[in-house]
Order: sequence, then structure tokens, then C-alpha cells
Amino acid sequence: FVNQLGDDGVPVDQLLASPLHASPVSSLPLPPLLYGPARRNSEGVDLTVTTMRAPLLAALATTSVPVVPLFDASRAEPAVAQALRALPAWRGTPVAQRAARLRHAADALQAELPRFCALLVKEAFKTWGDAVAEVREAVDFLRYYADEAERIMQPVALPGPTGESNELRLVARGPWVCISPWNFPLAIFMGQVAAALATGNTVLAKPAEQTPGVALEAVKLLHAVGVPADALQLLHGPGETVGAALVAAPGVAGVVFTGSTQVAKIIHRALAAKDGPIVPLIAETGGINAMVVDSSALPEQVVDAVVQSAFRSAGQRCSALRLLCVHEGIADGVIEMLGGAVAELAGGDPALLATDVGPLIDAEAFDTVARAVDALAAHGRPIDASPVAVPATTHSANFIAPQAFEVPSIEHVRNEIFGPVLQIVRWSGDPATVVERINALGYGLTFGIQTRIDSRAMAMAAQAHIGNVYVNRNTIGAVVGVQPFGGEGLSGTGPKAGGPHYLYRFCAEQTLTINT
Ligand code: GLU
Repeated sequence: FVNQLGDDGVPVDQLLASPLHASPVSSLPLPPLLYGPARRNSEGVDLTVTTMRAPLLAALATTSVPVVPLFDASRAEPAVAQALRALPAWRGTPVAQRAARLRHAADALQAELPRFCALLVKEAFKTWGDAVAEVREAVDFLRYYADEAERIMQPVALPGPTGESNELRLVARGPWVCISPWNFPLAIFMGQVAAALATGNTVLAKPAEQTPGVALEAVKLLHAVGVPADALQLLHGPGETVGAALVAAPGVAGVVFTGSTQVAKIIHRALAAKDGPIVPLIAETGGINAMVVDSSALPEQVVDAVVQSAFRSAGQRCSALRLLCVHEGIADGVIEMLGGAVAELAGGDPALLATDVGPLIDAEAFDTVARAVDALAAHGRPIDASPVAVPATTHSANFIAPQAFEVPSIEHVRNEIFGPVLQIVRWSGDPATVVERINALGYGLTFGIQTRIDSRAMAMAAQAHIGNVYVNRNTIGAVVGVQPFGGEGLSGTGPKAGGPHYLYRFCAEQTLTINT
């Protein structure tokens, strides 16, 4: 497959002078503190899963998903009152001690990696590779926020006239409602909770209805390392009742939410309608995430990045690639190669080590994605990929095969399809126009750029109103402390999870001036 130049202004001499980006752009080592992402060998095999095969499979046999009692929404106000009563003791615990408890939790979680992976496979239908990466991410969140809280919560002395001392300090706000999604039932759950606890807040954690068992085990682990039971309460139930009652309860000092844009807006309105203080909301929502490929890009690299970004986790990541914009000069070759790569994916039972793509989370998700696929089939042209092999197992019920459709235009892509479904658009002419049209969709979570022209990559990144931009690689799997994660516009409020500004939003600021 020979790379060709198209009409998108790629000058031959620049192209030859430009390095091939076969690996991620940054060659900086990961900070030693972090556990980091799962590593893959050159065949794409996750080394951790391979090397931990025996303990993982043993854990699968011995782990069962706990039944979590439903919380009665009418008890939301007493629960928040309890969190308020727990506040002075937890907020008054020195930050170093709070951080130490979170680090103990990180150690305990790391030691229990196989059991938590098995829970993720059984309750959330994660593949083993995704499960291992998720436990590692949760460990990273605990350690990172422990370090960050210690860093930012030291009082800062400020200049002042003689006879006066001035200092700025961060303090906990109060009880936080943490509402987390089923697609990262451990990592995002733990990230939200750890951020609130590290900064001295108390927590009312409302996990996704589909995955309360993972959340319960995470909470037990935090209680076991010394987080008081009333400083961290788990409240399992539907968002419409339990989530809504918690958000509406008096005394709530903040809400952190990951989920759909639509629900983020419902929470935003509910908070705005409350009497009393103005309550902050941190929302991380979805995206119509695009990747723009110019004619200088390496097709093999593009296809690898697309398969990872669009189909890993069965496309059930808010970071997942939804819209591939490929220059018409190389589009036929890229699409043909993509069809071949998709046909190689193994789909079905997540408990099998060989599975690349598991089922969707439940029948409702299946119906929604299946309807979207039907609508696409009516307008778009499916790319030629052989059907993905699906072993007949109990978990294949909600399986949807990875698939891609060519659609007429960027504007045709209106809604996020939360599954392994990719839409492809061909483009020609000025890439700035393509970025402008992607910006106009209104989302801004992840964005992929594939080009060998460095100046073009920089110009497109600067033009994009998008939170996480990835050049010449896949667009998923942001690493805590390395790729702070979160979007703008319809994709969320910021600040970015796993980044150095995140914890500030969980704190109030106090300036202390003393006349000496
Ligand atoms: N942080 C995840 C990633 O980079 C996505 C989180 C989400 O789906 O909410 O892939």
C-alpha cells in the first residue's frame, strides 16, 4: 500500500524532511510515581493480561458480584445531614493523613488487582485488557490525588505591609455528591471519590445503576484503610430518583458527574433552582470525537489508531472515535485496510482472554445502538468488512459487531452513538475547513490528527476547541497525571480529571490576614 499525496497541499520536500511518527509524539518517561497504562507488545498483546493469566482466571472462578441494597431516595436528606456531621473531623484530619489513607487504598487495590479485574469482567463485561488498565487507572487516581492534595493544600504566604501577615489557604467545601458511570465503574468512581476525600470533603457516592457491586467493593476498601463510614456513604439507585434526591438535598456543597450531556444539563438546572448557596458542578460528558487524516498520514498507523479508538471497549468510552475524516487521496486504501483489520477482531464473551470486543452493557444500550445502526444503514454505505466472529455465550446477547459506515458529510453526524460504530467522511481541500466543521458540532472531548506535517498538526490542534488532542496515535486511554482528561462545550465543564487543576474545584479559598 503506497502512501500518496493528495490535493491537501502536502509539499513533497516537507514530507520527506518530516519524521515518521510511528510512536507517540512524547518520548518523556512516565513519572515513576504512576502505575501507568497497560503495556502491549508488538503484536498488540497486553503483557499484563498475558503474564497474569493464572491469577486472573483463578479470580474469575472465585469472585462473585455482591448484591447491593437499593437506597431509599426519601433518605437523601438524612444522608447529606450525616455527611455534614462527619465534615469537621474529616476536614480537620491533616492532609498528610488523608493522603496516607488514600495511598494505603492504592496499595490494597494494586494487591487485589485480579479480584477487581474479575469483578469488572463479571459486572461490567469488560475485556481482561480493559479491566487491567482500569484497575491500574484507579490506583493512579488514588496516588495522584493524594500527592496533589498535599501539594496544593499547604498555606501560601503572601506579601504584605510590615505589621501584617497574609496567607492563602484551600479548605474543603463540604459534602460532595459523586455520580459516576458504568463504563468506568472503578476508575471514574474512585477518581471522583478520591478527589473529594483528599481535599477533606465528605462524599455521597451514587454509582451507575448497572455497576453497584464494583462500587461497593471500592467503598469497602476505602473504609478498611480508615476513611470513616459517614465521610463516605454509598447510595445505590436510579439517577432519576436517588441521584435527583441527592442533588436536591440541602447542604450539598458540590456535584461531580460523568455521563451524558443531557443529564449534566438536568443536574445543572436542578442546582440552579435550589435555594441557598450556588453549588458548583463538575461535568464530564460525551463527544462526537473526530480524527482528521491527511494525505501524508501512514495508513497502517491510521488503521491501528482507528481500531483502538473506535472499537476498544466496544466503543463505550466517551473518548471513543465516532467520526473519521479521511482525505480522499488515501481514503480507498485506508477504508479497505480498515475493513480487513475489523474482520480480524474477536468479539463476544469478555471472560475469554482472546476477546477484543465484548458486549454492550445491557439490553437498553443494545436497542439504542441497534436503532442508530439501522438509521445509518438507511443513509450510509457500510464498509466492506467480514462479520466479526461471535462465540455463542451467555454474554453475547448484547453484542454488536464493530462496524463502519461512510456518510455524506460531517454535518450528517448529529448524535453520539455509544457503541462500536464508526462514521467515515471523505474530505479534500483545506484541512482548516474540516476542523471548523468539527468545531461546529459543539462537542470538544477528544480529537485525533494524523499527518506527517508537524506544522499542520500544530495548526489544527490550535484551531480545535477540543480538550484532548492526540497526534499520530489513538485517542483513548488518557493516563492520570500524563494526559489530564476532559472536554469543553457540550463535552463538559472542566477541570480535567487526572490533571493539576482538578482538585482546586473541590476546595474553597480562604485568605487569612493577621494584624501582628
Ligand atoms: N478517560 C477515558 C479515556 O481516555 C475515557 C473516560 C470515559 O469514557 O468517561 O479513554
